[in-house]
Amino acid sequence: MSDPEFYDQDALVAVLTTQPLDRTLDYKAPEGGCLRGAFVEVPLGPRKVIGVVWGAGRGDFDRSRIRSVIRVLDVAPMRREMARFLTRAAEYTLTPMPSMLRLATRAPGLGDPPSMRKVYRLGQGEPDRMTDARQRVLATLREYGGLAFTLKELADLAGVTPSVVKGLVQKGAVAEEDSPRDTPLPPLDPERPGKELTEDQAKAAAILRDALRSRTYGTTLLRGVTGSGKTEVYLEAVAECLRMGRQALVLLPEIALTAEFLTRVEARFGARPAEWHSGVTMTERRRIWKMVGQGNAQLVVGARSALFLPFRDLGLIIVDEEHDTSYKQEDGVLYNARDMAVLRAAICGARVVLASATPSLESWANAQSGKYDMVELNARFGAAVLPAMRAIDMRAEKLKAGTWISPTLGGAVRDRLARNEQAMLFINRRGYAPVTLCRACGQQIGCDHCDARMVEHRFLKRLMCHQCGDTRPMPAVCPSCGAEDRLAPVGPGVERLAEEAAAMFPEARVVTLSSDLFGSARALKTEIERIAAGEADIIIGTQLVAKGHNFPLLTLVGVIDADLGLQGSDLRAAERTFQLMRQVAGRAGRAERPGVALLQTFQPEHPVIRAILAGDETGFWRAEAAEREAAGVPPYGRMAGIILSGTDVAQVFDLGNALARNDGALRQIGAQVFGPAPAPIARVRGRHRVRLLVKAAKGVALQDALARWIAPIRLKGDLRLSVDIDPQSFL
Ligand code: ADP
Ligand code: ZN
Repeated sequence: MSDPEFYDQDALVAVLTTQPLDRTLDYKAPEGGCLRGAFVEVPLGPRKVIGVVWGAGRGDFDRSRIRSVIRVLDVAPMRREMARFLTRAAEYTLTPMPSMLRLATRAPGLGDPPSMRKVYRLGQGEPDRMTDARQRVLATLREYGGLAFTLKELADLAGVTPSVVKGLVQKGAVAEEDSPRDTPLPPLDPERPGKELTEDQAKAAAILRDALRSRTYGTTLLRGVTGSGKTEVYLEAVAECLRMGRQALVLLPEIALTAEFLTRVEARFGARPAEWHSGVTMTERRRIWKMVGQGNAQLVVGARSALFLPFRDLGLIIVDEEHDTSYKQEDGVLYNARDMAVLRAAICGARVVLASATPSLESWANAQSGKYDMVELNARFGAAVLPAMRAIDMRAEKLKAGTWISPTLGGAVRDRLARNEQAMLFINRRGYAPVTLCRACGQQIGCDHCDARMVEHRFLKRLMCHQCGDTRPMPAVCPSCGAEDRLAPVGPGVERLAEEAAAMFPEARVVTLSSDLFGSARALKTEIERIAAGEADIIIGTQLVAKGHNFPLLTLVGVIDADLGLQGSDLRAAERTFQLMRQVAGRAGRAERPGVALLQTFQPEHPVIRAILAGDETGFWRAEAAEREAAGVPPYGRMAGIILSGTDVAQVFDLGNALARNDGALRQIGAQVFGPAPAPIARVRGRHRVRLLVKAAKGVALQDALARWIAPIRLKGDLRLSVDIDPQSFL
């Protein structure tokens, strides 16, 4: 790009907007000119929209009809490397640029003037009457010197009601002022001492620190069993990054995790970092977006979309639990945050640390081939040891119909209860029962809009479709035949398991952790803290519990159905099961007491189950890698999914067939196309879904070929086409 950095007034500039147009639009630079990368407001038809000055105007439009940029927004211009990142990410995921820009501007009101809020500090006046409460307010203000607080902060700190503060304002003893909302984040102090590291940890931290100081791109896979101190180690890297004056980003897979994590960061660096996820308020989002752009936020902890924040000088990206499937965005722009983190770091000369106890096969293979560095932590911290893992052969167990806890597992739970330790029972299925069947007519209740069964959620007294989210009250009569009281649950869900556990152990305190039982991340956090403090005996959970929580009293994990993930046609089924079982097992024995994990299975001789039991991670990866290499599938080959959908099933298939027939662009690179075939979930929200799968060798220009292949397609009616590069799920 040889475009100039600055455009004088009336010079032609190309503006990229978030509107779904396939090109930039030309405008005249505003009064005073503008920088390339400036965020601007431009007229578009009768509307005003926000965009970015992308470069010199194209000049292919009648100059007399070109309008002027309305104004330049008061935010940091988009940096060159951000523009390059968005462009490359768009090319990689075959996403139109306007959608990429939308991802990069997910903060409402960027164009608004900074809004104001009331803050309170010590005033000149004297209160006429002094009460205890008033005294506390004034003492608090004196204690914190010249600091100003919001009404709520001040009232909370002083332990008074807001009206006490307001009363003091009237007397002039407390001053009320307007202050802009978008204030810098509190500074973090990297010099505060961290935990004293073990030799292993100190070595790993030193490697990461040295890498950072090189100020060049590189990715390190930080591998270590759960509890080995990966977080302690990468926080050292964060500290080094802060010392260098660069910004750091920590990506976490689940909102539920951030609360625990933020407290930990605060303890380490003396202040809370910026937080970025769907639970953050709109005003706060805008503040963080702006502060990150100005370099006034040193550390961001967030979900995958934090990757698109306008960092001023990003030096380090941590992707914690890098194997987690929630890093893959499955809606809208289909990107994998782990891969995009590597791309972004490569462009801005940052380091990436991928942390996991059970890395994805992709990252494992990249470390094997030398593309990534690898640092390993082998021991758990302190006395904690990895739990022993054993299979319970369900073929030899006697269970009553409608129960899932085998006598062997039940006995093990009883032992823990007797020792005042905790047991966890894990099943990766939400709701009460996956199927509701009518005993009179044999029909299962399905969703009206999807090819999916309705799942009973007894807690909510509703049926719910896990595909489209549609719910309805639990019917009293069969919707097909009208028979009364004949509907029966089939199979276990987490709620039903909780019921069974409560009946089996009436004296135990049973707690259920499932994402849909909690209204908010806060409620979930409270529950997790209560469990950690020992206020539960048996924890029943879905995969929510598999992730990073610390339960020191937990010494037994029972996996109700270890075979569940092995079914299905997913390329990564074995990998997922392996990771999930390892993670779940890792919950047991985190503190001084050793743990045990028991896996209920009907196929104890299955290679994946055997690898899990043997704790033979390397063996598992080798076998899995060999199988995928032979099949030419990722990470040893490339894949892309094409999902077509529409309300008219014939039209959808016609389009699929047309694509499959006209595959010249793909054949040029030696790629093969499979399908069209109905997607495993063939109907969602009333739309029929058809998939094509493209397979290519590693190293070919797949995106190019795909773009040429689909370019001639004109989508009729309500037909939709989306491309999923490196698909993670095959639904
Ligand atoms: P991981 O991220 O690998 O699961 P963590 O960093 O969360 O491991 O460590 C597990 C637990 O052990 C945490 O409570 C952590 O504070 C503690 N821990 C780890 N290393 C140390 C250390 N060197 N000194 C004190 N506590 C430590
Ligand atoms: Zn549905």
